[in-house]
Amino acid sequence: MNTTTEKSLIKTKKTYQSDETIIAHFGEDSQKYFGAMAPPIIQTSLFAYENFDAFIRASMNERQHHLYTRGVNPTVEIFEKKLAALEHGERCKCFSSGMGAISSIFFTFLKSGDHVLVVNNIYGPARNLLSYLEKFNISVTTVNENDLSVIEKAIQPNTKLMYLESPGTMNFKMLDLEKFAALAKRNNIITAIDNTWATPLFQKPLDFGIDISIHSCTKYIGGHSDVLAGAVISSDELIDQIFEYAHQFNGSVLGPFEGWLLIRGLRSLPVRMKQHQENTQYVIDFLSTCDKVESINHPSLFTGKDKELVDKHLSGFSGLLSFELKNPSFEKVRTFIDQLQLFSIGVSWGGYESLVLSPNHGINEKDLEAENISKGLIRLSIGLENYRDLIQDLAQAFNAI
Ligand SMILES: *Cc1c(COP(=O)(O)O)cnc(C)c1O
Repeated sequence: MNTTTEKSLIKTKKTYQSDETIIAHFGEDSQKYFGAMAPPIIQTSLFAYENFDAFIRASMNERQHHLYTRGVNPTVEIFEKKLAALEHGERCKCFSSGMGAISSIFFTFLKSGDHVLVVNNIYGPARNLLSYLEKFNISVTTVNENDLSVIEKAIQPNTKLMYLESPGTMNFKMLDLEKFAALAKRNNIITAIDNTWATPLFQKPLDFGIDISIHSCTKYIGGHSDVLAGAVISSDELIDQIFEYAHQFNGSVLGPFEGWLLIRGLRSLPVRMKQHQENTQYVIDFLSTCDKVESINHPSLFTGKDKELVDKHLSGFSGLLSFELKNPSFEKVRTFIDQLQLFSIGVSWGGYESLVLSPNHGINEKDLEAENISKGLIRLSIGLENYRDLIQDLAQAFNAI
């Protein structure tokens, strides 16, 4: 497999192609498959070899060869090459879910006795998985601060991994990735970030020195609410380690059909994100004028130091936001959500369709208090419907409370 020409394209930041062109063309060679413009779904479990010597050579270095689809599949590989190039990394491996990608990081880089430093509000199931790892004698500290001196104090001699999410879950608070990466490097700590909110288009964590960028491709990258997938992007060296154990042996790998759906979803990511961003701006403008809204959480509204972090890291905004109702109660939250017609009630986000959800289930007030989450918090994922219809729907739901 000859990847040298492609490598040279992504060697330094200056020689990168633009994101849109990477998405349209990079990592593909239609002459390998009859000139077909759409790459084929190589729906096979195994690959056969011409002779036994060739097979033995390939099996000694499976990560560079097509041997078995639990290792490298050509359809999935096209998607992986594009993501690696978009994130300015050397390589990418895909998983059958975002959680598969996240757990691969823990499984590869942690051992009994290690400590993980979590910074910011992270995706709930990732937090739950980390707590579960305590049974393997892995300890976890969570710090919800951007203050480097506080983070520095939380570092222990056995801290192995700094796990970040920025913008963070629910409140979208941002971290100075450059400073965090430098601090971690000084202490020999691997840094990983969940970059799902920003998509590979709007934030490039590896440019700031972060070691590993993680995506739930289930969200914007897939974009059509029809595929579950995850990805990790990093250096050749770290991806090699992830490949051997957490990818191949844990086995939560991406199937060829899902890989193909993701290539197809990725094709339109730049134009979809433009529309998500525009629709979201209109919705935020509307919410800002609404007297039943206490506050709105979205990085586009940040001011002061937080705005500086936005300007430093983000080249655009996605469509997941939250807002808080004035004088909140569960009844108000429920009425508002049930009154919405265009917004579907459901988990996940980043698809073509608008979604609504609240962390307030009417039975978990104590948990909300402990996590400092308002009882009136409502999360919206702004889809690709006409923004006027979305605003009209929100307006009539506000009228009902
Ligand atoms: C959905 C999500 C994940 C997990 O991805 P799955 O594909 O559902 O496993 C991880 N991080 C964030 C921020 C997410 O929103």
